[in-house]
Amino acid sequence: MDDELSGNVSRELDEHLSACSACTREYRLLLIPKHIGRIIPALEPSPYFYRMLRARMQEEAQGVTIWQILLGLSRQVVPALAMVTLALLATFAYVQLRGPSPDVYQAYDMIFTTDRPQRMVIADHDEITDESVIDSIAEEEVQAAEPASVK
Ligand SMILES: [Zn+2]
Repeated sequence: MDDELSGNVSRELDEHLSACSACTREYRLLLIPKHIGRIIPALEPSPYFYRMLRARMQEEAQGVTIWQILLGLSRQVVPALAMVTLALLATFAYVQLRGPSPDVYQAYDMIFTTDRPQRMVIADHDEITDESVIDSIAEEEVQAAEPASVK
């Protein structure tokens, strides 16, 4: 097809093709691109084509280098971040599993239930002064002492 065979080999091929239908078919199939190439007119690229192509190639080359730098960095940073995350998780797990965890809600509730009567007494007074606060605490202590004395 490309006229690269020597005379003898070319003659042998022609003899074989004249006798073998399978190879003739293969040969014709291989010739199709060459025929199409002859039919289609050659394209003339615009004068700006190579300039635009070169600009785009440079652009892509820069993009690739930046990407490669990021990729290289990520290869170093990601394992380090993974180790930090693992260490934090291990610390958290250790703190959580170290002993019986205090019930946060219960502690929260205790703070506010002990505080609540005192606050309600204070809220009864129009003015909140040092005296009123001391009065309310005294009242609360009296109220707290009463059930004990009844018992
Ligand atoms: Zn054949």
